[in-house]
Amino acid sequence: MSLKLYPIKVSNKSILTPDSVKISLDITDELKTLFTYHQGQYLSIKININGADYSREYSLCTSPYTDSDYSFASKIVKEGVVSSYLFHSLNKGDTIYSYPPQGNFFTELHPMNKKLYFLVAGGSGITPVYSILKSVLFKEPESRVVLYYGNNTMQSIMFKDELNELHLKYNNRFSLQYSLTEYDSGWEGFKGMMNLIDLESLYSKAENMNFNSKEFFICGPVDLMNLVRTFLETKNIPDENIHIEYFKAPDAEETDDESNQKNYEDKK
Ligand SMILES: Cc1cc2nc3c(=O)[nH]c(=O)nc-3n(C[C@H](O)[C@H](O)[C@H](O)COP(=O)(O)OP(=O)(O)OC[C@H]3O[C@@H](n4cnc5c(N)ncnc54)[C@H](O)[C@@H]3O)c2cc1C
Repeated sequence: MSLKLYPIKVSNKSILTPDSVKISLDITDELKTLFTYHQGQYLSIKININGADYSREYSLCTSPYTDSDYSFASKIVKEGVVSSYLFHSLNKGDTIYSYPPQGNFFTELHPMNKKLYFLVAGGSGITPVYSILKSVLFKEPESRVVLYYGNNTMQSIMFKDELNELHLKYNNRFSLQYSLTEYDSGWEGFKGMMNLIDLESLYSKAENMNFNSKEFFICGPVDLMNLVRTFLETKNIPDENIHIEYFKAPDAEETDDESNQKNYEDKK
């Protein structure tokens, strides 16, 4: 990988939820080859905020196979400098600096594959998982995908409409299961924190699908990743089939508060 940072203009910014935003980048012809990426990879960006430089990583939420835009998505973390800046202050036309895409949170895709992809995402952990999901559904017509995706509230689900559309389109080979900790009385998805019982129920249903091998991709809060890892150990899944992406920062939590809700309403 080239160790150089490249200036890149923001070509679009769209609000996804009351606390998350999608940032699209203008990858010029000169950068196209260097910035070629695999589904699930991330950018390491540098951004100047009030005279100080900050470096952070953001996973690409787009698919190299199905999307013409080149985007990442960020969810505000409590008192987070960069995630707040991206949400509130970054504008179309601004310049950020980025290294070319990096990361190993992917496997090579092949149209002849007949795999089960078991994807688990919590909160902003959906970003690389969403890229993987779109890529697999498009590139591997014989493969099946299960997505177990946890959030606090319905409004905080990133890419909800897009996921629901994909679910309709690929209904016979894409199972989508949301889990919410706060929900209305009519909510029919999983309830509460993501847990072993729900995981087991999804996994045993998936076991009845028709596939030759399994891959697991997990991205979310550390507790969730530990939970899934422990679960997979009991199923004797080999390590090479388990892919984990750590966004990490141990204690802080993503926000879901009223001020962000208000901001969202203002910006819509
Ligand atoms: C490989 C990789 C890919 C990533 N991809 C994404 C992505 O696609 N979307 C996205 O929103 N974020 C992603 N992140 C996290 C991102 O890089 C930042 O850490 C996050 O945006 C917080 O930065 P901040 O400057 O706002 O917070 P800071 O000012 O650095 O931290 C503020 C507080 O929040 C805590 N904190 C920092 N990061 C997190 C976090 N991720 N979760 C919970 N608490 C945290 C800190 O410990 C601190 O207490 C990724 C991280 C890695 C390593």
